[in-house]
Amino acid sequence: MLTKNEIYEAVICDYTAEGQGVARVDGCAVFVPNAVFGEKCRIRIEKAQKTWAAGKIVEILERSPHRVNRECPVAKLCGGCDFQHITYQEETRLKAERVRSCLNKLAGEDLAEMPILAAPTCHGYRNKAQYPVSSKNGRAYAGFFKAGTHQVVENDRCGILPAEMDGVKDTVIAYMNRHGVPAYDELSHTGLVRHIYVRRGAVSGQTLVCLAINGRAIPQAYRLVAELKKIPGFTTLVLSVNTKKGNAVLGDEFITLHCPGYIEDTLCGLNVRLSARSFYQVNHHQAQRLYEVAIRQAGITKNDTVLDLYCGVGTITLCMAKAAGKVIGVEVIPQAVEDARDNAKRNGIENAQFFCGDAGEAALSLEKQGVKVDMVVVDPPRKGLNADAIEALSRFAPRRIVYVSCDPATLARDVALLKERGYMLKNAQAADLFPRCAHVESVVCLVR
Ligand code: SAH
Repeated sequence: MLTKNEIYEAVICDYTAEGQGVARVDGCAVFVPNAVFGEKCRIRIEKAQKTWAAGKIVEILERSPHRVNRECPVAKLCGGCDFQHITYQEETRLKAERVRSCLNKLAGEDLAEMPILAAPTCHGYRNKAQYPVSSKNGRAYAGFFKAGTHQVVENDRCGILPAEMDGVKDTVIAYMNRHGVPAYDELSHTGLVRHIYVRRGAVSGQTLVCLAINGRAIPQAYRLVAELKKIPGFTTLVLSVNTKKGNAVLGDEFITLHCPGYIEDTLCGLNVRLSARSFYQVNHHQAQRLYEVAIRQAGITKNDTVLDLYCGVGTITLCMAKAAGKVIGVEVIPQAVEDARDNAKRNGIENAQFFCGDAGEAALSLEKQGVKVDMVVVDPPRKGLNADAIEALSRFAPRRIVYVSCDPATLARDVALLKERGYMLKNAQAADLFPRCAHVESVVCLVR
């Protein structure tokens, strides 16, 4: 066990899933924030456990050529970005490496390399922002949570968001301060505005503003609408009622204050409608490239029935509809299913069907009803597939499974389970949808 407050010299030899550097000292893994692979540092131990420790750099003895100055003035405080201190080249290298090593270590693969779709820009790429709101000396402000806390770090201008989004945030904050609308206070569970949520169509520029509030109404709402209307692209204002304690940003009930309650955008040539509650990939350009890979890997023919589990608003489902005989999407959020059905209609797609429910349960029930599928796409949240979904996949026994994943560790775990059920990994591709942030997306194809 290492000694707290002791300083050790070590080389950064890896990164964690969260983007921290890892050093090895006397067989113990030391997690070091803001470290760069290959750097020799003097590290002070801040926390020591039997098999691991947490440390801080006190001096860099050999600096990596991939270390760069942070562009963002609040980068060190703000918990939004993880990689402001390294080159984008190093960031994509480590992300590809993470996908490769997960598949090799957890799914028994022997991949020598992993291709990654690098993003053309690290700036202004997000089409969604969620700003937590807080107050200081009676003045409301918004920003982002400090890493690991619920302390709001004020940020005037976030580099990974388009400037228009910060404009929306500023308009809402100005309205709050002008009319004495209180920010929510987590400790006392009082106050009103919790989060400013903004979604802006990358192609359409249409902008949805959603205020997550600890209540059911906001004072002088018409004044806020009047101010928002001055912002080009402003389309709709909704309230999300969230009166519960806890970390969830949105509540279950939505109240539209300015119609229509959703925005439209164009994705892979489809006109899509998006409600506040529906999932939509935050990096439009990279999402399109990711879906193109997924569709290519799927190798669909006109006779195929395709099942898309965790389908959201039906983006992948509808992209595949043209090539397939029939497509079926399953999604648990009712608003997203409504969007998906509407998206099929607005694009004149008649061979798509959507079900609302848990992916695993719905798939098992479809299989029991005798539905046959040739190809399955899954795109689950970070926790990956549950036992029902794995069971359903093995009963359907589709020719191919295309797995789109936002967590390489659960992807690799599920690939291992599917390999036990007669599948083998055919293609694997990493994609960077979150420049400057540690999350990495990937897509793999399994064949029976
Ligand atoms: N394929 C879509 C959405 C992927 S995100 C796209 O690319 O846009 C994952 C989706 O799974 C979300 O829409 C989420 O609401 C949904 N989801 C989460 N848990 C689920 C479950 N148990 N069953 C079905 N869908 C679920």
